[in-house]
Amino acid sequence: MSSTQHETRASITIPSTLHYRPLPAPLAQAIKHDAPSVIRIVDTPGSYPCRRCLQDGQVGDRMRLLSYDPWLGASPYRQPGPIFVHEEPICRKAEFPVHSTLPEQQRKRELSIRAFDREHMMVAFDTIQGEKLVSRVEEIFEQAGGAEYVHVHYAGPGCFAVRIDRA
Ligand SMILES: [Zn+2]
Repeated sequence: MSSTQHETRASITIPSTLHYRPLPAPLAQAIKHDAPSVIRIVDTPGSYPCRRCLQDGQVGDRMRLLSYDPWLGASPYRQPGPIFVHEEPICRKAEFPVHSTLPEQQRKRELSIRAFDREHMMVAFDTIQGEKLVSRVEEIFEQAGGAEYVHVHYAGPGCFAVRIDRA
């Protein structure tokens, strides 16, 4: 099993064919919204994944848990969901220039992926291990008719992780 473990640890490059978009809708809007949010102090490493910097909170970090709507268009599938973000101003929004690597935060988690067309209708979905994210999304863009973007969630708790568009 050592080769599998090695493969799991190896970094995965995000290809230029994918446009990686953390927090696609403005976060400020979500924070202003009436939905309740709470502050949590990280007590366990690897348990509070920040969606702004895409790093897990370190023990002692202050994290805000809030309801966030990542949608950029009207859809019957549209729904907000819970996310953690570091309280300002600890972190900055992660950026993904060419040859960026898949964040460990996503690589190590089980992910639910849903692909939508330009009318915001779902055309494909899957549940995968994080290290398969890039290859599976590329596959969906090649195979699923009309897939324009993918919403990625953490499969267990159902938190929004990232949006990936066709570049
Ligand atoms: Zn952060």
